[in-house]
Amino acid sequence: MPYSAEPWLTQLQENGYRLTNARRAVVEIIEASCYARTPVEVYDLARAQYPALGLVTVYRTLEKLEELHLVQRVHQPAGCQAFISASKGHQHLLLCRECGQAIFFEGDDLKPLIKNLSKKSGYQIQEHWLQLFGVCKNCK
Ligand SMILES: [Zn+2]
Ligand SMILES: [Zn+2]
Repeated sequence: MPYSAEPWLTQLQENGYRLTNARRAVVEIIEASCYARTPVEVYDLARAQYPALGLVTVYRTLEKLEELHLVQRVHQPAGCQAFISASKGHQHLLLCRECGQAIFFEGDDLKPLIKNLSKKSGYQIQEHWLQLFGVCKNCK
Protein backbone atom coordinates (compact mmCIF):
# COMPACT_ATOMS: atom_id res chain seq x y z
CA MET A 1 0.00 0.00 0.00
CA PRO A 2 1.41 3.42 -0.87
CA TYR A 3 2.03 5.72 2.02
CA SER A 4 -0.78 8.19 1.44
CA ALA A 5 0.42 10.96 3.75
CA GLU A 6 3.65 11.35 1.78
CA PRO A 7 2.45 14.13 -0.60
CA TRP A 8 1.26 16.18 2.39
CA LEU A 9 4.56 15.73 4.19
CA THR A 10 6.44 16.73 1.05
CA GLN A 11 4.30 19.83 0.64
CA LEU A 12 4.86 20.84 4.26
CA GLN A 13 8.60 20.47 3.82
CA GLU A 14 8.60 22.44 0.60
CA ASN A 15 6.91 25.23 2.54
CA GLY A 16 9.66 25.35 5.09
CA TYR A 17 7.97 23.26 7.76
CA ARG A 18 10.33 20.98 9.62
CA LEU A 19 8.96 17.45 9.93
CA THR A 20 9.27 16.18 13.46
CA ASN A 21 7.78 12.83 14.47
CA ALA A 22 5.09 14.69 16.42
CA ARG A 23 4.00 16.68 13.35
CA ARG A 24 4.18 13.56 11.22
CA ALA A 25 1.79 11.76 13.58
CA VAL A 26 -0.74 14.62 13.34
CA VAL A 27 -0.56 14.65 9.53
CA GLU A 28 -1.02 10.88 9.31
CA ILE A 29 -4.13 10.93 11.50
CA ILE A 30 -5.96 13.75 9.77
CA GLU A 31 -4.96 12.69 6.26
CA ALA A 32 -6.33 9.18 6.76
CA SER A 33 -9.54 10.18 8.54
CA CYS A 34 -12.96 10.34 6.92
CA TYR A 35 -14.32 11.82 10.12
CA ALA A 36 -14.34 15.47 11.06
CA ARG A 37 -11.89 15.72 13.93
CA THR A 38 -11.34 18.46 16.47
CA PRO A 39 -7.75 19.23 17.51
CA VAL A 40 -8.38 17.45 20.81
CA GLU A 41 -9.60 14.32 19.01
CA VAL A 42 -6.57 14.39 16.71
CA TYR A 43 -4.40 14.80 19.80
CA ASP A 44 -5.92 11.73 21.47
CA LEU A 45 -5.57 9.60 18.32
CA ALA A 46 -2.07 10.73 17.42
CA ARG A 47 -0.75 10.12 20.91
CA ALA A 48 -1.18 6.39 20.31
CA GLN A 49 1.62 6.74 17.74
CA TYR A 50 3.56 9.46 19.44
CA PRO A 51 2.93 9.64 23.21
CA ALA A 52 5.04 12.77 23.76
CA LEU A 53 2.83 14.85 21.45
CA GLY A 54 1.68 18.23 22.74
CA LEU A 55 -1.69 19.80 22.02
CA VAL A 56 -0.05 23.03 20.79
CA THR A 57 1.73 21.02 18.09
CA VAL A 58 -1.62 19.65 16.95
CA TYR A 59 -3.11 23.16 16.66
CA ARG A 60 -0.08 24.52 14.80
CA THR A 61 0.14 21.60 12.42
CA LEU A 62 -3.57 21.81 11.59
CA GLU A 63 -3.25 25.56 10.99
CA LYS A 64 -0.35 24.98 8.65
CA LEU A 65 -2.30 22.29 6.77
CA GLU A 66 -5.24 24.68 6.50
CA GLU A 67 -2.97 27.39 5.09
CA LEU A 68 -1.83 24.93 2.42
CA HIS A 69 -5.48 23.99 1.70
CA LEU A 70 -4.84 20.38 2.59
CA VAL A 71 -7.48 20.40 5.32
CA GLN A 72 -10.62 22.44 5.66
CA ARG A 73 -12.77 23.41 8.60
CA VAL A 74 -16.12 21.74 9.11
CA HIS A 75 -18.95 23.99 10.19
CA GLN A 76 -21.03 22.71 13.06
CA PRO A 77 -23.74 24.31 15.17
CA ALA A 78 -21.45 24.39 18.20
CA GLY A 79 -18.62 26.08 16.29
CA CYS A 80 -16.14 25.39 13.55
CA GLN A 81 -13.32 23.64 15.34
CA ALA A 82 -13.24 20.34 13.46
CA PHE A 83 -11.11 19.60 10.41
CA ILE A 84 -11.27 17.19 7.50
CA SER A 85 -9.10 16.51 4.44
CA ALA A 86 -9.94 19.23 1.96
CA SER A 87 -12.19 18.54 -1.01
CA LYS A 88 -10.68 18.33 -4.44
CA GLY A 89 -12.30 20.91 -6.64
CA HIS A 90 -15.89 22.08 -6.21
CA GLN A 91 -17.53 19.60 -3.87
CA HIS A 92 -19.89 19.76 -0.95
CA LEU A 93 -19.72 18.10 2.41
CA LEU A 94 -22.26 15.77 3.96
CA LEU A 95 -21.67 15.36 7.66
CA CYS A 96 -23.00 13.01 10.35
CA ARG A 97 -23.83 15.10 13.39
CA GLU A 98 -23.46 12.09 15.69
CA CYS A 99 -20.07 10.60 14.77
CA GLY A 100 -18.61 13.23 12.43
CA GLN A 101 -18.28 10.88 9.46
CA ALA A 102 -18.00 13.04 6.38
CA ILE A 103 -18.32 12.45 2.67
CA PHE A 104 -17.92 14.85 -0.22
CA PHE A 105 -20.42 14.91 -3.03
CA GLU A 106 -20.51 16.62 -6.36
CA GLY A 107 -23.37 18.35 -8.00
CA ASP A 108 -25.97 20.74 -6.72
CA ASP A 109 -29.24 21.95 -8.05
CA LEU A 110 -29.01 25.56 -7.03
CA LYS A 111 -29.41 27.28 -10.38
CA PRO A 112 -33.16 28.04 -10.09
CA LEU A 113 -32.72 29.23 -6.51
CA ILE A 114 -29.76 31.44 -7.37
CA LYS A 115 -31.52 32.87 -10.41
CA ASN A 116 -34.61 33.73 -8.38
CA LEU A 117 -32.69 35.17 -5.49
CA SER A 118 -30.53 37.20 -7.82
CA LYS A 119 -33.61 38.68 -9.48
CA LYS A 120 -35.27 39.44 -6.13
CA SER A 121 -32.26 40.85 -4.34
CA GLY A 122 -30.45 42.52 -7.21
CA TYR A 123 -27.24 40.75 -6.21
CA GLN A 124 -24.91 39.28 -8.73
CA ILE A 125 -24.34 35.93 -7.04
CA GLN A 126 -20.89 34.54 -7.73
CA GLU A 127 -20.19 31.68 -5.39
CA HIS A 128 -21.82 29.33 -2.97
CA TRP A 129 -20.88 27.13 -0.10
CA LEU A 130 -23.01 24.18 0.87
CA GLN A 131 -22.77 21.70 3.68
CA LEU A 132 -25.43 19.17 4.63
CA PHE A 133 -25.94 17.60 8.04
CA GLY A 134 -27.64 14.41 8.99
CA VAL A 135 -27.22 11.06 10.66
CA CYS A 136 -25.15 8.39 8.90
CA LYS A 137 -26.16 4.76 8.32
CA ASN A 138 -24.26 3.55 11.36
CA CYS A 139 -25.73 6.14 13.72
CA LYS A 140 -29.32 5.93 12.53
ZN1 LIG B 1 -22.57 8.71 12.20
ZN1 LIG C 1 -21.91 23.57 -5.69
